[in-house]
Amino acid sequence: MNEKQKHMLDTIRREAKFTASYTGRQAFNERVMQAMQSVDREAFVSSQYKDLAFDNGPLPIGHGQTISQPYIVALMTDLVDVTAENIVLEIGTGSGYQAAVLAKLVRQVYTIEKIPELAELARQRLKTLGYNNIEVRIGSGYHGWHEKSPFDAIIVTAAATHIPQRLVDQLKPGGRMVIPVGLPYMHQELMLVIKSKSGAMHTESVLGVSFVPLVVADDEFPGGSSG
Ligand code: SAH
Repeated sequence: MNEKQKHMLDTIRREAKFTASYTGRQAFNERVMQAMQSVDREAFVSSQYKDLAFDNGPLPIGHGQTISQPYIVALMTDLVDVTAENIVLEIGTGSGYQAAVLAKLVRQVYTIEKIPELAELARQRLKTLGYNNIEVRIGSGYHGWHEKSPFDAIIVTAAATHIPQRLVDQLKPGGRMVIPVGLPYMHQELMLVIKSKSGAMHTESVLGVSFVPLVVADDEFPGGSSG
């Protein structure tokens, strides 16, 4: 681990402590921290941002999108509480970084990206880096990925205006989903959704966050136009 990477992990630990009263956790699971350590964030940003790769901030990845800040990636990964046998869905592949972190922790990651160029780049990158338990699909993730469901966990890395019911439906009983909910470019709350063994949905608000919007076409909404 180089100095910059060590600094990134220290910053995540510090911020986890600062936000403990919101998140209910003083520190993230050591498995999650190890995954954060073992994925080289530098490989997920373009050459002009390499110097900033281990700073605790989001960075542009083109097409108006961003790679999330490392602390948020660690938090979201911690919140879904995955095990090595799990199958996980991510909505919003972006650079592929969050998918790579998840891939270190679970059996299989399925990830969906709406912008074809980003999906293609992430797919190539993950292949070059040797990840063989990540499948990238081009398309909208608003309806999830029915053929691969049910999932032990779902991570949505773009802000939705509401919790999409189809995603809840594709969670296993006992499964967990993290999703930022709120208005585009306004205040959003990172929500943790837990589906109980009986199928009931429990939601809790974790932290105020800022994500790029989950883009949903009018005809994707149940019943047609969202008005
Ligand atoms: N997880 C990414 C960061 C993603 S930024 C990473 O680790 O780098 C959010 C991504 O969600 C963007 O790439 C955006 O194009 C994508 N997105 C937005 N709406 C979407 C939708 N409906 N379905 C799939 N991807 C979507």
